[in-house]
Amino acid sequence: MHDIVIMYHYVREKESWTGSVPISPEDFRKQIEWVKGNYEIISPDDMNRITKKPKCIISFDDATKDQYTVAYKVLKELDVPGYFTVMSAPLECGVVPIFHLVHMVLSHFNDEEIWKELNGKFEIPDLTEKSAYYSYEPNMYRRYNKYVFNFLLDEQSCRSYLEEKVVKLYGSLQSFIKAFYISIEELVEMKENGMTLGVHCVKHLPYKGDAQEFYNTEIAPCKVFMQQELEITPKWYTPAFGGGENALQMRADLEPILRANGFRGAFTTIEDYTILNTNNFWFNRFDCNRSKFIR
Ligand SMILES: [Zn+2]
Repeated sequence: MHDIVIMYHYVREKESWTGSVPISPEDFRKQIEWVKGNYEIISPDDMNRITKKPKCIISFDDATKDQYTVAYKVLKELDVPGYFTVMSAPLECGVVPIFHLVHMVLSHFNDEEIWKELNGKFEIPDLTEKSAYYSYEPNMYRRYNKYVFNFLLDEQSCRSYLEEKVVKLYGSLQSFIKAFYISIEELVEMKENGMTLGVHCVKHLPYKGDAQEFYNTEIAPCKVFMQQELEITPKWYTPAFGGGENALQMRADLEPILRANGFRGAFTTIEDYTILNTNNFWFNRFDCNRSKFIR
């Protein structure tokens, strides 16, 4: 058996969160119990430790509140460490990435009504063929809406429509952020209880090809935020979207910059086994929200 890193996003009841693919608290606990029986669960900082069983790191992206209220509590109960990554813009300047607004709106509003509203506000072409990109979504209106938000509208139009919906539910964007993301105080508590915190991003922007610029805008300010607010100098990095379309180039170009800035390693979204040892820099991860790896 080989070492593994497993990856989670939302850990919450599926019915409460239809806008994305959560793993239920019960399934999450079962998976971690199984992993605990078969692997040595370690913190990234303990990567070089010699262990009897193969090693496993449990990783979390995006630092949404459910990871604190559900996942962190389960890890504490089972007495195993986790690796959580911080996105600084929502906490620092009140900016929420579009995809989180989309998850929220699709989880709480009716798809047909959204589709009607969008058609009233914007000039939308026939999407029958294009929306096939989302063929895994059984609801036709949901396929259309996702296509409109993710591909058709410019960021500003998209943002203003979605933020208006979120404000309807939460009163203000700031109260949404408070409810939706792990707070600074909670992150400090997690750190003090043995959880590792790493850098995820500032605004969750995709990698565009200039590694130094990407480091300066999406990584360095998050590192500074963590130093100032959490009193942590982060050593581990997890890129937003795994680096996206340019992931291969990103890994090559970004590694020397990350190393020069004190990072010891980083995590991909390539689903494969890995070798947990700091002779390596990039580590693969299995997506356990989609449960291909563990039943
Ligand atoms: Zn992310």
